[in-house]
Amino acid sequence: MAFKSIRSRLTAWYVTLLGIILILFSVFLNYSLSKRLYESVDNSLTVSATVVATSAVMNFNRSPLSGIDQFFEQFMGAGNLNKFYRIYDGSGNVGSRSKNIDASKFPLSQAAYTDALKGLNSYETFLVDGKHPIRVITMPILREKKLVNLVQVGTSLEAVQETLRNLRIFLFTSVPLVLVLAALFARFMARRALKPISRIIQTARDIGQGQELNQRIPVLKVQDELGQLALTFNEMMDRLENSFAQMRQFSSDASHELRTPLTVLKGQNELVLSKPRDPKEYQEVIASNLEEINYMSKVLEDLFILSKSDENQIHLNCKPMELRDLVEEVCKHAEVLASDKNIRIIIAFLESVKINGDEVRLRQMVWNILDNGIKYTQPGGELKVSLQDEGEFALLSIQDTGIGISEKALPSIFDRFYRVDKARSRDEGGSGLGLSICKHIAEAHKGKIEVESKLDVGTRFKIRIPTLSAVG
Ligand code: ADP
Repeated sequence: MAFKSIRSRLTAWYVTLLGIILILFSVFLNYSLSKRLYESVDNSLTVSATVVATSAVMNFNRSPLSGIDQFFEQFMGAGNLNKFYRIYDGSGNVGSRSKNIDASKFPLSQAAYTDALKGLNSYETFLVDGKHPIRVITMPILREKKLVNLVQVGTSLEAVQETLRNLRIFLFTSVPLVLVLAALFARFMARRALKPISRIIQTARDIGQGQELNQRIPVLKVQDELGQLALTFNEMMDRLENSFAQMRQFSSDASHELRTPLTVLKGQNELVLSKPRDPKEYQEVIASNLEEINYMSKVLEDLFILSKSDENQIHLNCKPMELRDLVEEVCKHAEVLASDKNIRIIIAFLESVKINGDEVRLRQMVWNILDNGIKYTQPGGELKVSLQDEGEFALLSIQDTGIGISEKALPSIFDRFYRVDKARSRDEGGSGLGLSICKHIAEAHKGKIEVESKLDVGTRFKIRIPTLSAVG
């Protein structure tokens, strides 16, 4: 039978196991009790036969032994089948017997006589009148190894069989009853224990059917496995909800970012086409269009890099390299931009440090930081660059004397599309994606990027990349 639910399966296993244990127990109980009872009957018969034999040896004749009848009446109970005796001579003829049973109902068997000739006791069970079971011991009395007398003592087995019958009736009724109760109890317990799973299923189903992601499972007992499962499920939902919110924010920011230049493009083109213009005007509009197109392609390129890094698909082309050479080279290029704004790039010191890195990505990262430094520093300011070998890490520090970042804005500057001053950044051609990309590049190299800043004083970026010796 195939049970669909865990609850039914648990109940079935539990009841089957309990059933097997109870049946084995019942069989064992029945066997050992009946063995014990029959043994005790045989033992009592042996004791009685020994008593009779001792009396018989003292004085044997064909009539009942003097005084023995009274003795047996006291010893065994008078006039019933409970116990009786017979004494035979060596040839198997009855000498003395109790009066409570007819000898013809169970004659001396050949097997018992043969055993007696060998000096052995024998125990037999007979049915008197086809319905009364009796147990009989046949005990030989030997003199000088010759069989002189045989003593038979019998007793009714009805009490023993009645006890065993009652036991079986009890077992046959109580075992199924216990199993039914156990099944009901097991079902109840399984339902109680598995209740949190039903809640998890329901919550997951609700979410799957389009309900809000903010649903959670109430966690009552954190210590047990189901509590842990509910907790893990809730944590997973937290992360999913966060990711979805980020994704939503990201796509709305991205579409907004592209819609603005498109609106500008459309407006400018419509305006210029509304009436005939001279070539100079057309040239100006086309130049402005080109600027917007360049901006859009930069945003798209940055978005492409970020989406790839989200899927962990940024494949770094790492090789051992001298970081000092790379920093020197990027600084040289940035100097052209800086001098246009009358900003000085001061190289404080550059230590030689080898790392395992992707030259293209690292150049992009250093360039972004230097470019930001130039963008957000007033003319006459300066940028200080240093590179230090810290043993485990190469520490690149880029410090400017620019506008700085407020304490409130500082934790957000690595977020996508985050800009402290949107208008200013946009004028400078910034998309708000540069620092997110820098963070990704540093982390992809197993390094980290940190920022310290003071409003109107300046900003310092510290980038740590593991050295070649640390990577091994
Ligand atoms: P953007 O393209 O706008 O420069 P970034 O991701 O590079 O985007 O930087 C995010 C924001 O962090 C910027 O808009 C700017 O407000 C702030 N920021 C970055 N670098 C500096 C800096 N050196 N000085 C002051 N503000 C900065």
